[in-house]
Amino acid sequence: MKFEKRDIVLIVGLFLFMIGLMPFMAPIYAAIIVTLMYFGIKFYVGKRKQSITREIGEGICLECGAKIVETKCPNCDYAKE
Ligand SMILES: [Zn+2]
Repeated sequence: MKFEKRDIVLIVGLFLFMIGLMPFMAPIYAAIIVTLMYFGIKFYVGKRKQSITREIGEGICLECGAKIVETKCPNCDYAKE
């Protein structure tokens, strides 16, 4: 996991959320929840980036413009089989 500038925004947002939780629960639980949320969001963003990179990496079909999946066009190549 790389540290990015927008992580600061995320951390600040979660920190404020943690402060908001404190009246309702012990600070340690608020901290645990916020920490879990932080890693959850990081994981989700990482997954999304990975899938976007994969889509760009495989490109699009020259015939119909559909996304290429496993070097095949889901429309053209499978229709021929
Ligand atoms: Zn195609």
